[in-house]
Amino acid sequence: MVHRFRDTVPLSEQQRLVRRSIRDICENFDRAYWRDRAREGEYPREFVDELADNGWMGALIPEEYGGAGMETSEVVVMMEEIAANGGGFSAAQAIHGGIYNTVPLVEYGSESLKSELLPRVADGRASIQAFGLTEPNAGSDSTSIRTRAEKDGDEYVINGQKIWTSRVDQSDYLVLVARTSPKSDVEKDTRGISMFLVDLDDALSQGALDMEQIPKSVSEFVHSYELWFENLRVTDDHLIGEEGSGFYQVLDGLNEERLVIAAECVGLGELAVERAVEYATEREVFDRPIGENQAVQHPIADAHARVQAAKQMTYDAAAATGESSAELGARANMSKYLAAEACFEAADAAVQTHGGFGVATEYDVERYFREARLTRLVPITQQLALNYIGEKVLGLPRSY
Ligand SMILES: Cc1cc2nc3c(=O)[nH]c(=O)nc-3n(C[C@H](O)[C@H](O)[C@H](O)COP(=O)(O)OP(=O)(O)OC[C@H]3O[C@@H](n4cnc5c(N)ncnc54)[C@H](O)[C@@H]3O)c2cc1C
Repeated sequence: MVHRFRDTVPLSEQQRLVRRSIRDICENFDRAYWRDRAREGEYPREFVDELADNGWMGALIPEEYGGAGMETSEVVVMMEEIAANGGGFSAAQAIHGGIYNTVPLVEYGSESLKSELLPRVADGRASIQAFGLTEPNAGSDSTSIRTRAEKDGDEYVINGQKIWTSRVDQSDYLVLVARTSPKSDVEKDTRGISMFLVDLDDALSQGALDMEQIPKSVSEFVHSYELWFENLRVTDDHLIGEEGSGFYQVLDGLNEERLVIAAECVGLGELAVERAVEYATEREVFDRPIGENQAVQHPIADAHARVQAAKQMTYDAAAATGESSAELGARANMSKYLAAEACFEAADAAVQTHGGFGVATEYDVERYFREARLTRLVPITQQLALNYIGEKVLGLPRSY
């Protein structure tokens, strides 16, 4: 691996330690490993187990609950490295939920839920990989969710539908966002939404959960599902935080998570640049390496500059997460937007550099290209990130 291109940001001692440890783990999973997982559509179980065995699934869990108690500035390094060392955006996505779904529990979960569950997540015995917010009629407009949770004694009864819920097949628990009051009954659209921890085995044994995998063209080894809930009973001690405040709980921590997504895009961009450089150096046409042609060289150099610029912004913001949420929101949305665009350009340059082999699965860059396209859609679309910058940063009128 050619790390020298991408070690452009000065790191703290702690960040260097994270980088070294993750690189060491990633060295055990070569390109063929990721290619095979994608071909088979099989979750990278060995990779995730190795991370879990080394305590990485508890990255954001405080030390008092057995976790590593890491900061965003360290998690950006972790996730960038996972993507950059061969796994791409999808490898990061294979574990992203498992790490980030612990955040609302840490912040808002009851003490009994935290002490029962978090140590088991931190040491890999349990997983909270799945997060269900999106619904068929409520994607970007998330306050329009219709899944209902109605109180019945000391339980909630949940009915409704979710779509695109990822990693349900690799998770013990699902963090579910549902309406406890219909939108029409609340003063503000953002109120009346609550967050629940659903034990997936329990839901299936109640016969209250149906699920169907969504066929898709990217991230073959991270599966996404459509879910239907019919009279699912969840005890009220599985309500996370306050009833009616779930939307605010979703928003809390979102900026820091968005920076980590940006770092995953940066990692994918770096991986694509590295592969493009490698091929441009090795491949000879007209008796000379194709990289001698500036028509080949410049798109790679341009993408590299853009990826590293996005990295600078992402790392800079991750080092300053204590600032006001308005400032952090601006930097997080700009970072995610720029990193997704930069990794798309890098992946496109890598495909073009490979000529016909750009679409051969054996060379991997076609996978990077499909993943880079996905980064423009998730976890929010590029337009929604621009809406944020337009409205919240530049003060332009709101479009919805
Ligand atoms: C592979 C994958 C995994 C996912 N995993 C999860 C998961 O685990 N959990 C979960 O809850 N969700 C998940 N999602 C859902 C994802 O968060 C949504 O797809 C995303 O938020 C966009 O919502 P949508 O698909 O409904 O698009 P829509 O909201 O229908 O938008 C369609 C298009 O219109 C544009 N648009 C809409 N309104 C505006 C506006 N006001 N201004 C400008 N443009 C606008 C959008 O930008 C987009 O281009 C996943 C999606 C994918 C593809």
